[in-house]
Amino acid sequence: MTEPMRHCGKCGKDEPNVEFYPSFKHRHTCKGCHTIQRKAWRAANGDENRTAARASYKRDPEKYKKKKRDYYQENREKVARQFSDRYKADPDRFRGYARRWRADNPEKAAKVTRLSQQRLQDASLDGAARSGYEWTGWEMEIAGDTNRSLTEVARVTGRTYAASSRMRHKVLNDPKWMSAAGLRAAGTETGETS
Ligand SMILES: [Zn+2]
Repeated sequence: MTEPMRHCGKCGKDEPNVEFYPSFKHRHTCKGCHTIQRKAWRAANGDENRTAARASYKRDPEKYKKKKRDYYQENREKVARQFSDRYKADPDRFRGYARRWRADNPEKAAKVTRLSQQRLQDASLDGAARSGYEWTGWEMEIAGDTNRSLTEVARVTGRTYAASSRMRHKVLNDPKWMSAAGLRAAGTETGETS
């Protein structure tokens, strides 16, 4: 069976449907040409956009920070999932970002490390935001994700470092917790335990 071909009006090639974005049902621009167009647009307008956005941010940074905080608070689970999915799809990319940023900003990096250690200590002393709440499935899943550092687990879940560490140990070692976290015990098909 031969796939019907679509014609790209930009490059003039006839290409299979997969070479066109699904939302472009009625457009005659293939993925490759669309990417080139977007790049050209960004090269022409990107700087302007960024300058405007930056100026607007500078006028009232608190407004933007609050907006971001509120969004995060209201969509904690969604944000964590999105990040988790993107991280899982390409962990090296994110590790690379962090490494490069640290290399380029050694002083800021040292400050961030100091701050996050301080915050972890404070959290451990005062009890983290979600201390005392039962762990939810997605939190356990995050705790069991060994691509994440325990610091990150603590930050994302609002738990202490110590609590995150205990939960990771449980979900990675105890079949009961493993299935609660949606992880499968090695060698079992369903994750059920007797
Ligand atoms: Zn094309």
